[in-house]
Amino acid sequence: MSRRSAPGKTPRPDVSHKHVFDARQLLVAYFVTPGRNEMSAYKLLINGKLEDGDAAMDVVNPATEEVLASCPRASKAQLDKAVAAAKAAFPAWSAKPIGERKAALLAIADVIEKNGQELARLLTQEQGKPIGDAMGEIFGAAAFFKYFTMHDLPVKILVDNETARVEAHRRPLGVIGAIIPWNFPIILMAFKLPAALLAGNTVVVKPAPTTPLTTLRLGELIKDVLPPGVVNIITDANDLGGALTAHPDVRKISFTGSTETGKKVMASAAATLKRITLELGGNDAGIVLDDVNPKETAPKLFAGAFQNNGQVCIAMKRLYVHESIYDEMCNELATLANNAVIGDGLQQGVTIGPLQNKMQYDKVRDLLESAKKDGNVIAGGEAPDQPGYFIRPTIVRDISDGTRLVDEEQFGPILPVIKYSDTDDAVRRANASPYGLGGSVWSKNAERAYEVANKMASGTVWVNKHADLAPNIPFGGSGQSGFGSELGEEGLEEFTQLQVISVAR
Ligand code: NAD
Repeated sequence: MSRRSAPGKTPRPDVSHKHVFDARQLLVAYFVTPGRNEMSAYKLLINGKLEDGDAAMDVVNPATEEVLASCPRASKAQLDKAVAAAKAAFPAWSAKPIGERKAALLAIADVIEKNGQELARLLTQEQGKPIGDAMGEIFGAAAFFKYFTMHDLPVKILVDNETARVEAHRRPLGVIGAIIPWNFPIILMAFKLPAALLAGNTVVVKPAPTTPLTTLRLGELIKDVLPPGVVNIITDANDLGGALTAHPDVRKISFTGSTETGKKVMASAAATLKRITLELGGNDAGIVLDDVNPKETAPKLFAGAFQNNGQVCIAMKRLYVHESIYDEMCNELATLANNAVIGDGLQQGVTIGPLQNKMQYDKVRDLLESAKKDGNVIAGGEAPDQPGYFIRPTIVRDISDGTRLVDEEQFGPILPVIKYSDTDDAVRRANASPYGLGGSVWSKNAERAYEVANKMASGTVWVNKHADLAPNIPFGGSGQSGFGSELGEEGLEEFTQLQVISVAR
């Protein structure tokens, strides 16, 4: 690990697109030593037993660039074993009364809460987010497990008259493959796991290669809470997702990740006509109307854009501000960016951690270099002189649509602020993205903002807030942000097969 060069100098070489692509190969080469299998404190969970991987890989702390732990890496044979265990566990688990499955969800929530401090600390160390945010993610996940116990999946009576009785039943599907990205390893697993289990399915969970440890530790903690095979956890080096999505014994893939990978999932699942839910990338726009007070609103906009270092699918990634308040809003945002405390998330007072991995760090730095040419950087714009994948929160003004920073998903701490004069034009530009995950409209007058919100094309539109999710509110994207939904009753039903029983009278 090397110290960075002095401030003002470029600490790392610039990376072009080609290099970013190459970095993906390097990432795998760096983290994985084929054939090596050091004993790891972390184990896979397969058929109720903790196992070493057939190989091992290192997990790096992004705040220090040091190896945090050796982690098991499952082989294809171990993936097959996990799917077989889930398949074998399905008949008994799905036949249990729903009350017993609810009791298991509550027991998992209890385990998460009892071990919350330890899990949060580990999450910060592998993911990078400040410890307070990690605590929010862990305890939030426990709340999601509890939330789903409020559902009963009752039989709906569609017709009940002298000629027929028609009922709609919600049956479990079978084995679910749950594929998770690295930005919120635990809460995004909790979008899937409790709903899948409550409905009577069994699950194979696959976390992202750079953030597997908290998930594995949780697997160890809940090992005896569930019958063997009901939940299995395997880890990979970005090389088992294809096998899981193509596996003939997996009935559904619940995928959260990038749009690029989502397309591969869809193609791979086609051969077995699997059900898929795709929660993919986003390029959320915020539209700030002319009546907003910049000083009051800027902190909320900043939080919407920079939470988790901008590594949020529904982070505000483009901000359209009316010309009458543009300069003032840019200045307020720049002040907030300058005041942010970046550092190791375990340190007190840190508000923004590192980018999660080297590949993302290189991608964001590459975007930053383009943004410097396409707009004016008024805060941040550099990587500080310290180890770790840090980039100072960056505000870019005088930039417009048609540039990389505005059109692409940056998934990092750089916010483009775009001037507009006509509200309909701002809406048109916001909707012009191929993505359609979230969006927001900001005004002193909520009714006026609501009118504008009605014209937005994204799966969720917020008024005077951004990125507000709750377990009882369904969430899903439009366009290339994916399809299907998670959370709420709608999300739960996606883990079921609708069966109609129609009886003549
Ligand atoms: P990614 O697509 O690279 O990886 C996501 C997961 O897919 C990882 O577990 C990875 O190992 C796995 N994977 C890789 N190749 C695969 C394949 N061929 N088949 C199946 N699975 C495969 O995404 P990432 O970089 O980890 O996460 C960032 C992206 O996720 C961003 O685009 C972000 O917007 C998106 N995201 C979306 C949501 C949402 O709910 N819509 C939430 C969080 C993140």
